[in-house]
Amino acid sequence: MTDKDLYGGLIRLHILHHAAEEPIFGLGIIEELRRHGYEMSAGTLYPMLHGLEKKGYLISRHERTGRRTRRIYEITKQGRVALAQARTKVRELFGELIEGY
Ligand SMILES: [Zn+2]
Repeated sequence: MTDKDLYGGLIRLHILHHAAEEPIFGLGIIEELRRHGYEMSAGTLYPMLHGLEKKGYLISRHERTGRRTRRIYEITKQGRVALAQARTKVRELFGELIEGY
């Protein structure tokens, strides 16, 4: 088992959390995750974003910035519901893992 398997869920939740605040794009998320100590390559992140989109949690569109286009992801209603449910579970895990009860 790799760290990626262990942290995959946390990273997905992190992505949903930021998508809930504002539209996100791949490189921005890679930088944000790096700030939190996760080194993610585009080759790892993009399949995750696609997976979240396939699941109906994110929706993407192409946005043109100058000459380049990039794919922007927004959270869906379903994604917000999933995030809210995950928040409860994370709180419970936090209680056990960090607070010790
Ligand atoms: Zn963050």
